[in-house]
Amino acid sequence: MDYDILIIGAGVVGLSISEGCSKDKKSVLVVEKNESYGMETSSRSSEVIHAGVYYPENSLKARLCIRGNELMYEIAKKFSIPFKNCGKLIVATEKDEENKLEGIMQNSLKIGAKGLRIVDRDEIKKLEPKVFATSAVYFPTSGIVDSHSLMKHFFLKAKDKGVDFLFKGEVILIERKNGFYEVGIKEENGEISRVSAKIVINCAGLNSGRIAQMAGFDVDKLHYRIFYRKGVYFRVQHNLGEMPQILIYPVPKEDATVGIHTVPELSGGLRLGPYDIWADEIEYSVNPNLTDIFYDSAKKFLPVLKKDDLTPDMAGFQAKRYGPNEKSRDFVIKEESDNDFPNFINLIGIESPGLTASPAIGEMVVEIVNLL
Ligand SMILES: Cc1cc2nc3c(=O)[nH]c(=O)nc-3n(C[C@H](O)[C@H](O)[C@H](O)COP(=O)(O)OP(=O)(O)OC[C@H]3O[C@@H](n4cnc5c(N)ncnc54)[C@H](O)[C@@H]3O)c2cc1C
Repeated sequence: MDYDILIIGAGVVGLSISEGCSKDKKSVLVVEKNESYGMETSSRSSEVIHAGVYYPENSLKARLCIRGNELMYEIAKKFSIPFKNCGKLIVATEKDEENKLEGIMQNSLKIGAKGLRIVDRDEIKKLEPKVFATSAVYFPTSGIVDSHSLMKHFFLKAKDKGVDFLFKGEVILIERKNGFYEVGIKEENGEISRVSAKIVINCAGLNSGRIAQMAGFDVDKLHYRIFYRKGVYFRVQHNLGEMPQILIYPVPKEDATVGIHTVPELSGGLRLGPYDIWADEIEYSVNPNLTDIFYDSAKKFLPVLKKDDLTPDMAGFQAKRYGPNEKSRDFVIKEESDNDFPNFINLIGIESPGLTASPAIGEMVVEIVNLL
């Protein structure tokens, strides 16, 4: 056997797992197709440390978000990873939105979010003078984190403990042998090497469904097929004077996306987004014609905003286990003996709050590994 554990994908999830597994003297290889870690979804997010709002009670999304929120602040403080516990407002700007705030708050309390409360116009003004809202739910445990520094921290810790990283290595084949897996990796020079491992952990993000299919899982039966949801951001130029320093989210519409919100940056800058659409392929362009949509959405709660303040910024893709018109599905994080793949751990559909949850996902997967 070449390795005890082979991890596919060095996004924030794979890195957190590798850091966790490295503590147990197991030999670990992380295989990543790009030239470095964190070059896909994990570096294209809002970088919000979520408090836990809309997820169903007892879902993995809810549990891992709540635990991840706690761990994220602990790790950031302990290892000097830049973060800001700026808080978040979900704002109502009209009467029928006000009626939804209580339900939003109750769900959040049910899943374990802490310290939240409904705030009135005066308190909102104190929290963020630039925002307009008739009332809001305030989440004091929300914040932002420098996701690049977080990934660097996981990477350096893992390397320090002896985890091997193979960059520019694309997993193209997974074969089950007697009691282990053989993984075919296409390297930079086009050659294919084979590495054997007792445990394979699939955290390949947008490709996690494809990796599961490659190993032999029935991705349609198990709902492991990944659908892409593109999220687009616009940047706010500095005409606002000092930028809002708090996360401001609208009350979501019926389509179940969180809606275009403020994304304050640790540098003091401000983005708005994401505007979400289903997509068939991965391409990161931002259509400048979306300016009106961004302006119309954000000016309701940010009346100082001018259309000229907005310029196209960046895009990212969420890996979802459901497509258009389907109901939302939870993360899959499981060892697959019951599907006849012992010692194969799938992490599929790790969409938002995957960044927040990443330290808790690492913790959970290490527990699974220790039972094998
Ligand atoms: C627009 C947007 C906003 C978001 N906002 C937030 C937020 O504010 N807060 C939050 O908590 N979460 C947020 N998320 C979600 C969060 O970013 C993701 O859940 C998280 O980054 C997923 O990490 P990952 O490691 O699973 O995936 P990735 O970062 O995509 O990593 C997967 C890795 O696997 C590698 N890989 C794939 N196939 C192969 C192969 N065959 N061989 C080798 N390597 C392979 C890829 O190259 C990649 O590096 C957001 C996501 C998006 C898109």
